[in-house]
Amino acid sequence: MTPRKLLLIPALLLAITALSQLAPTHFDGKTWWGYVKVLAADDMQGRETGSKELLNAEAYVVTQLKQEGLQPAGRNGYYQPVKFMSRQIVEQDSSLALVHDRKTEPLTLGDDAFFSSRVDLAPSVEAPLVFVGWGLSVPEKNYDDLVGLDLKGKVAVLINGSPSELPGALSAHYQPSAERWKALHKAGAIGTIGIPNPASMDIPWSRMSLNRTHVTMTLADPKFNDTDGAKLYVTFNPAKADILFAGSGHGWREIVDAAKQRKQLPRFPLAVSIKAKAKLEKHEIESNNVVAKLPGSDPQLKNEYVVLSAHIDHIGVGQPVNGDSIYNGAMDNASGSAVLLDIAASLNKSRDQPKRSILFLFVTAEEKGLLGSRYFTAYPTVNRKAIVADINTDMFLPILPLKVLTVWGLAESDMGDDARQVADARGIQVQADPEPQRNVFIRSDQYNFIRHGIPALMMGIAPDPNSPEQKQLFRDWLTHRYHAPSDDLDQPVDLSSAAQYEEVVRGLLIKVADQQQRPEWKSDSFFRRYAENPAGY
Ligand SMILES: [Zn+2]
Repeated sequence: MTPRKLLLIPALLLAITALSQLAPTHFDGKTWWGYVKVLAADDMQGRETGSKELLNAEAYVVTQLKQEGLQPAGRNGYYQPVKFMSRQIVEQDSSLALVHDRKTEPLTLGDDAFFSSRVDLAPSVEAPLVFVGWGLSVPEKNYDDLVGLDLKGKVAVLINGSPSELPGALSAHYQPSAERWKALHKAGAIGTIGIPNPASMDIPWSRMSLNRTHVTMTLADPKFNDTDGAKLYVTFNPAKADILFAGSGHGWREIVDAAKQRKQLPRFPLAVSIKAKAKLEKHEIESNNVVAKLPGSDPQLKNEYVVLSAHIDHIGVGQPVNGDSIYNGAMDNASGSAVLLDIAASLNKSRDQPKRSILFLFVTAEEKGLLGSRYFTAYPTVNRKAIVADINTDMFLPILPLKVLTVWGLAESDMGDDARQVADARGIQVQADPEPQRNVFIRSDQYNFIRHGIPALMMGIAPDPNSPEQKQLFRDWLTHRYHAPSDDLDQPVDLSSAAQYEEVVRGLLIKVADQQQRPEWKSDSFFRRYAENPAGY
């Protein structure tokens, strides 16, 4: 060693010490990527719920969990079987038309509109249309878009989203089709035509429409039916929506401009009615959640559980985009499933085990409407009251270095404070949901825990709010890769960012598992209501 080099050592040491506070200590991103490569490989065929390839992916996960010494905690070993009803629209035997002044104007399925097969579509429907604005009823705010409208036997036309006057949590709660439908059904409506709000479309119409004939699913048990009484569900192309308003005295332009700014919307009967014929093909399907347990080390606290969840299903094989028809779902959500496997392995190697037990939960059918987690929280494989928290990870997007972390649910429970502390210690800035209108907090599996009163959150890597380039990178990812075949193993991924993310999840998991007090909802959290009064199924 030359003296010159010796002189460099103190500086180098200093740099290493400074870095070591931030550098991952349990993960290197490589084992994580190794798991992703297996789960998102082409031979997994996009892990469609009910497919044999999803079974293969789950068998791989179970092998890894066994290897890491985790205990089975399903119903059938590591598996919790779940039954579904699948539905598929047969478009050649289905049609949509608008009737105006006794003239019938056929609509082009795919171009103008398409059926949602998530509801039990009636073979034929003919009904007047009523524009109901946002179509929301929020008793807490004395807000009711349906008041004064005659909806008996009619189909409600609405815009997806919510007005800015409604606080984020409230509007998030009332927007899912289940909640919205309850109020519409009560008012007498027999169906809906939903128009996506161009201001908050993650996916362009062309791609939404591309997979409209894809299989949809509901849980087989009718007690989970959210759209009881719905005969018609249609999604309408916002670029073509003008024809719905013909003769009504209002134009689509005026409405969409107000909707983009999340303003109050007018509500009125439309001059056109709808004529629909729908043919559905139905099948019974079975799939599984996978559940594994790492027993806690504390004699008392080990009887309680912290759930670490991720959905393992994706949307299978669909219409080709650029010649590729396999929707690999590498980020959505092989990435999250891989985090669970990586953390399971790291905890197995660690000498101090968390005090509470950890449940590693890989749910199925998230892409079908959070169904696997809904089933698990309705029929948990451990005592539900003993589940103290859920940390969910879904599409956390390590496509940039982790400097800013979005915590969905940051202000809702004291787990948000825990997450902030863990991130702070690594020099990572934490932010609440920067785009509440996208409703991400209720769009993944944590929501089913929340509805049972269990504090939950989800975290994801975010673009720097001050960097237009980074924000554009994320927007481009959603437009081009989200639910597209290009969410595959060929996309650029930042392994050290993934490793940092895993450190934060692991840190939060241990913190929650070791704390004497179980996490609690904040006294002013909207979601606290479910702790007193669970939403049921
Ligand atoms: Zn998805």
